Order: sequence, then structure tokens, then C-alpha cells
Amino acid sequence: MRETFYDLSAPEALKELASGENGLDAGEAAKRLGEHGENKLEGAKEASLLEMFFLQFKDFLVIILIIAALISVVLGLVNDEGILDGVIIFAIVIINAVLGVYQEYKAGAALKALKEMSAPKAKVIRNGATGKIPSNELVPGDIVILEAGDYVPADVRLISSTNLKIDESALTGESVPAEKFYDAVLAHDAGLGDRINSGYMGTIVTYGRGSAVVGSTGMKTEMGKIAKAISETEDETTPLQKLLDAFGKMLGIACIIVCVVIFIIGLFLLKMDTFEIFMSSVALAVAAIPEGLTIVVTVILAIGVQKMVKRNAIIKKLSAVETLGSTTVICSDKTGTLTQNKMTVVKIYDNETSYPVTGTGYSAEGGISGEINQNLRLLIEGAALCNDAVFLPAEKKIIGDPTEGALVVLAEKLGMGKDELNKNYPREAEFPFDSARKLMSTFHRKDGKFIMYTKGAPDELIAKSARVFKNSAPQEMTEADRAKILADNDDCAKNALRVLAVAYKELDEITNPSEQEHDLVFLGLLCMIDPPREEVKAAVATCRSAGIDVKMITGDHGVTARAIAIDLGISAPGGNVITGREITEMDDARLAEEVKSTNVFARVSPEHKVRLVSAIRENKNICAMTGDGVNDAPSLKKADIGVAMGITGTDVSKEAADMILTDDNFASIVSAVEEGRTIYSNIRKVIGYLISCNIGEILVIFFAMIINVFFRHLPKLPLMTVQLLSINLITDAFPAFALGMEEKESDVMNQKPRDPNADLVDKKMAAAIIFQSIGLAIGCLASFFIGFALTGDEETATTFCFVTIVLGELLRAYSARSENVSIFKMKFFGNAFLNRSVLASILFLAASVYIPALNPIFKTRFMPVNYLLIALVFSLIPFFAGELSKKYTKTL
Ligand code: ATP
Repeated sequence: MRETFYDLSAPEALKELASGENGLDAGEAAKRLGEHGENKLEGAKEASLLEMFFLQFKDFLVIILIIAALISVVLGLVNDEGILDGVIIFAIVIINAVLGVYQEYKAGAALKALKEMSAPKAKVIRNGATGKIPSNELVPGDIVILEAGDYVPADVRLISSTNLKIDESALTGESVPAEKFYDAVLAHDAGLGDRINSGYMGTIVTYGRGSAVVGSTGMKTEMGKIAKAISETEDETTPLQKLLDAFGKMLGIACIIVCVVIFIIGLFLLKMDTFEIFMSSVALAVAAIPEGLTIVVTVILAIGVQKMVKRNAIIKKLSAVETLGSTTVICSDKTGTLTQNKMTVVKIYDNETSYPVTGTGYSAEGGISGEINQNLRLLIEGAALCNDAVFLPAEKKIIGDPTEGALVVLAEKLGMGKDELNKNYPREAEFPFDSARKLMSTFHRKDGKFIMYTKGAPDELIAKSARVFKNSAPQEMTEADRAKILADNDDCAKNALRVLAVAYKELDEITNPSEQEHDLVFLGLLCMIDPPREEVKAAVATCRSAGIDVKMITGDHGVTARAIAIDLGISAPGGNVITGREITEMDDARLAEEVKSTNVFARVSPEHKVRLVSAIRENKNICAMTGDGVNDAPSLKKADIGVAMGITGTDVSKEAADMILTDDNFASIVSAVEEGRTIYSNIRKVIGYLISCNIGEILVIFFAMIINVFFRHLPKLPLMTVQLLSINLITDAFPAFALGMEEKESDVMNQKPRDPNADLVDKKMAAAIIFQSIGLAIGCLASFFIGFALTGDEETATTFCFVTIVLGELLRAYSARSENVSIFKMKFFGNAFLNRSVLASILFLAASVYIPALNPIFKTRFMPVNYLLIALVFSLIPFFAGELSKKYTKTL
């Protein structure tokens, strides 16, 4: 099949690709997908399950343990003492690895699903209908629509274009966006940078619009050719994971030192059997070193992120979850995020009179009372023609921008259907809307001449108008006219209405569409309501109690912005409003000062947003910023958390963001912050729990041996190798996971944001760890020695210790459900995951003690009820130590 299409005309390219303006039908598209494969770049190969399994054994200590087990088997065979010990250690190591693979796989799958959710979609015409499909389903011959802010989804040949500009720097290195023209036909040897009638996968539409037929997809695209095997999925390590890695290493080294000391004491002071003490020391090191911390945290982050999806926030980078928890300022757009973006025009001003408009919603019922005079006719005509939205009355639906949709509905209400107008006055050229200029102009053929309609922000439009339409004709605009328009504008804005103005200009010919916005004739104002989203008020109040400042950053007029901000509780009635123009005049230091006390920023352009984020971060804030437009990428990148809109956002903004809101709703940002805080607090619980268990285990062995140095008649080892390993596998790991699944605590949004620079193990956690590990050591040793005193049997004494340590850790897990609140003030069994893992651990313990066949494996003895009760009583010590530590650490 032909691979180049730039050397054909658009109709020829369509023909060559066996397609047409209506696109392919579903059957043909499916057939071509089978032939050409998915439209994606192949990334680096993922590790297989088997590879993941073997990677589990790269840990130095695990290797030593395997060697120790091998030696044990060999010694067992040589001395004819059986190989059970060695085999069991092997089994435990393998089960551990399988669990590790399972966790990693789960985390990986969750992250992959997230990636797919945020993958770009392409606007495509199939069967004559326009819709969005995942970009990887595109096939050659598909017709795609390209608009500012979109990524070009495949290599395409343009079939229409209006002011289209594409940033191809990713491919050609050329930083200035290339202008594109569908009607050019190029020579076969045209270079990549000169192919002005084509677009290439991965490049960005920065301006205008167009449509194109897909020529090649996937690895056959230019991007595919230069990136035969790019790794799409960089493994990202979050700050917390890095901290944990470093911390885990430090703890690991400390553990090894202690284990070496234990080995030396055992060997030289206690004259223990070399192999026995070697095995015990290695097992202790394996059990005590928190090697699983990082992966546990990854799994908790990944599961937490899945929970966020249910609350309408897609997280693109795991690190964002951590940052979310420490967010101190949320900057939000107004339209669509704080408000519903369901606009209805409720009032019209035609420079002389105001007309209330009846009828709400997307319905053609309603209108104005009285005649439609010539001025009104031009005003509505301009609003409907300078407009890209489509109104579907039967479905009561708008396609396109809601602001423009409201204008089309208005025109329909007044009997001036947009289709009819378009037919009578076809669009010849346009100067598209952009949020920095806040205007849009279109050029139409009318009565043998041309007319340009411009609509946009009234303040901008007044400045560009020289005349005003009054008494059926354009008149010179006087100061009084200007003052009246501004007063009318203010009047609407004060009532939280969004105001748009329309003007026109007659032309003999269309030259330089982008240079015609001056000397206009002002036609009037259109005021529309955009009701606030119902849930936002409560979300703003939640932010307040959570110590988070909310700022509204909008392109809309200051007075409208203020009225809505006051209604939502973002600003006090006398609150300050700063405009984009004022921001331009301020230097950075002044702006940093002003942002401290100002919550509403109006008539802001994308470049102001970048300065605002900088100023807010300058004040040591962690700032979340929303954005949807093609120019919002810099501010989204600059913010600590860039938040893009899933529905109305451009591809570019989604790509630049850390988080995407699937419902474009401010309240979802607040939910995400709440989840972020919960996840972080759960991670702290898990870390605190695991570390105190591990330190507790070391202390039990260490103290028992030290005691033995002085009291030689006492038994030496309170826990056997397999016991240590199974504690590590069962009672440590499962409850720890369950703690990571804790539901949010009720006061999570009543606390101050977390300081991102604070130590991971702060004073509070350190104190809790000390309390609990010492509690665990005291309880276990007491149980161990009392067991020995009661029975005089070493194995029974170890069983006492084993039962106490397992029950002690399980009970302690309940206490660990909150760092601050007493478990007795919570629903004790409120965490179903924990209940299940505790039950499983108890069954395991009971089996190892009460099934005679398992006694030799776990080196346990049968425990009568009275012994069991004694062991149980001692296991309460770490639990109460945990509860006590909460009282003490409250003040830290
Ligand atoms: P926010 O920034 O909170 O989303 P916004 O929609 O007002 O609010 P922009 O999209 O930057 O922000 O628009 C800025 C201004 O441009 C608007 O207040 C309005 O006056 C004008 N405007 C918006 N959409 C259009 C449009 N389609 N055509 C012409 N003017 C528009």
C-alpha cells in the first residue's frame, strides 16, 4: 500500500485510502484494525511473571537464607537428622516470593489501568457521525478532527484546514509551530518539515482547526520509525518511596549489625551450636529487615489511586498522591469547575433597552417580549454566526462550548436558527477564540459584501469599538455610551451573570483576518447565568477546615467572579479582586505579597496563571492548579499538582497535568486531597506497625541472649528459625496490608496539611515505635520465661513466646488503626480486611500449636487452655503500650 499522501491532493488521498468525508464504517474499521494493528508505539517489554518471580531473590539476605537452608539440608543428610528444617525454610522463601510477585503484579496492573484511562482519545468521523475513540483504535482511512490543544493521533493527510498551526518540535526540532494548508500538493521529495499538508503523530495542534485522513498508524508513523522501542512506562519512584528506600537501607544495616552481635554472643559467650545460631541470626535478619516496605507502599498507593478514580480523579503520577496530602492552596478555574457550565442567556441589552429572556435549559421555548428591532437582529445574528456550537433541540443537547451553545439556543428562541443563518451568510474566514485575547471573529459573505462579527469579553470589545449601533444605525461612540454599556455590564456581573458582547464591521474584502479587530460597531450585551455547582459550597468549607486556601482564577469579569466567589464562600463580601491587567503591572515580590490575602483573580490569561503559581509557591505553599486550555500547560506543569479537566480539557492540558478530573468538578479535587491524606496516613500506620514489630522481634531475641549471659540455666532462644520466618510472612505482612486499606478517619479534613519536608519517622512515630516494640519485647520475654518456669521445657517456653508474639502483633494491629484516636473510641472491628487477616493468622497459629503433625515443623508444643491464657495476657502488653503511646504522642 502507498505510504506517502502529501504528494496527492486531498480527494486523491481519500480515494487512495478508500475513505470519504463520512469516514469508514464500523465493520471496515474493525477489519483494518485487524490488518494494521493498534495505533500505538511499542514500548519496552514488560517483565514476565517468571522474571518477576526470580527478581524476588535478588535480595542479598534472601540469598544467604537460601544458602543456609541448603547447608541445613546437606548437614541433615550427612548427620542423618532429617531435612525438614531446610525444606520448610525453602517453602517459606518461595511463598514469600510468590506473594511478592502477586503484590507487584497487582500494583502494576492498577497503574496500567490508570495509564489507559488517561490515554488520549481521537475525534473521529465514522459512518458520518463524529465521536471520540481511544487513539490506539485509529486505522488508515479514518477521518479525524484536529482542534487547538489536540495531539495529532496518527500520521495524517489534511482534507480541510482553517488557520491550522501544528507544533512539530517533537519531530523536527523546529520550535515555531508550522502553518498547515490542506490544499497544497507537494513534490514526492518534500522534507518532513516542509509537508504543510500533513500532520504527524505526537505533534500538537496549537491553533485553528482542520480535518484529516489517517495515512499511517502505530510503528509505521514517523514517530514510530524514530522510536522503534521507546520505553513508554518509565518507572517513577515517588519521594516517599525514595525516603523509604533510604530509611529501609539504614534500618537494614542496623538490623544486620544487631544480628552479627547476636551471632557473636551466641557463638562465643553462650557457646551455642554454630549452625543453629547462624540460622537464627540470618532468619532474624530476614524477619526484621523491612525489605517489603517499598512494595507495600506502592501497592497501597496504587490501590488508593484506584479508589480516587471512583471519586472522579485520575492520578497520572503516583507522587501526586503524596503531594495531594500536603496541598495548601487550590487554584480553580470558575467556569465549569466551580459552576455547572450550563449557560442560559437571561438578559439582552441592545445599547438602548434591556430585554429579559424567558425559558431555561437547552430548549427553544421562551424568548423576549416585543419586536425584534434591527439592532437586536444584528446582535443575535452575530452571536449565532460567530459561533461553533451546535444545538440539538430534539435531544435538548449542545455540542461544543456551553457559552456558545447558550447563544445558539437564544437565536433559536427568537426564530433565527443557526443553520439558516449559516446558509444565508456562509463563513469565509475566522480568527479563532483564544483565552488571552478573549475575543473571536468570523467573516461572512452578506449582501454582496463581507461582514465580520466579533464576540467576546465586553471590556475588550468596547476598547476595540469606535461606533455603537443605536436608532437603527451606527453612531459615533460617546463617553456616555461607553459609560452606559459599562454600567449595564456591571449590573449583570453583580448578579453573578456572565456577560458577552457582540460587535461587527463591514468589509469590502477579507484580508488578514487576525488584524481586523478594530474600529468595530458595538451591538450590545448578552448576559447568561451559569449556576454554581451544588456540591462546591460544602467542598470549599471542607477546604477551610482542612487548612487549605481556595482561590478562583478566571478569565471572566471581576464583578461576576466576585459575586460567585462570595456565594461559594471563596471570598468574603469585602474581599479583594485582582485582575490580569493588575498582575501585569506588579513585580514578582508584590504579587507574592498580594496572593496571600486575595482569593479572586479575574480576566486572567494563561501567562498570568504561571506567575500566580510561582507567587503562591514562593510563599512556601503546595499549590494545585486547574487548567483546560491549550495554553494552560505551563501553569499546570509549574504547579505542584496540575489538574486537567477530563471533559472539556485539551489533550495538551491532560498531558501536562498530574491529575485529571473525570467530571471537571472542583469537589473532586477536594475528594482527591482527602484520599491523598488518608493514603498517607495509612502508609504511616503501616510503616509504624511493621517497624515496631520488627524491632520488637529483634529485642526479644537480643534481650533473651543477654539475659542468658548472666543466667545460664535459662533457655537461650525464645523463637525458632521457622517461627521467625512465619511471623514475618503471616502476622507481619497481612495485617500491615490491611492497615493500608483503613477507611478515612473522621478528622482527616480537620487537620492542617502535612509539611512535605517533615521527616518520615517523626518524633511522634518514633515514640510510638519505642513504646510498642519495648511492650512487645517485655510481653514476649515474660511469657517465655514464665512458660519455662512453669514447665521447665524449652520447646514449651518457645511456644509461649511464639503465641504471645503472634497474638501481640495481631492485637497491636488494631491499636495501629489510628495514630491519634484510641481504638476504644473507634469501631474496634471496623476494618474488615484486618479482621480477615487476623482471623487467618489466628487459624494458622492454632493449627501450628494444636495439630500434632505440625508441631515438629513449627517446633511447637501443645498448649493447654491455662497456658494459652497466660500467653494471651502477655500479648495484651504491646496492645496497651500502643494505646498509651497515643496519649503521650498527642502532644508531640
Ligand atoms: P474560567 O477561566 O474560569 O474557565 P472563562 O471561561 O471566563 O472562565 P476563558 O475561557 O479564558 O475563561 O474566557 C475568557 C473570556 O473570554 C470570558 O469571560 C468571555 O468573556 C470570553 N469568551 C469565552 N468564551 C468565548 C467564546 N467562545 N467566544 C468569545 N468570547 C469568549
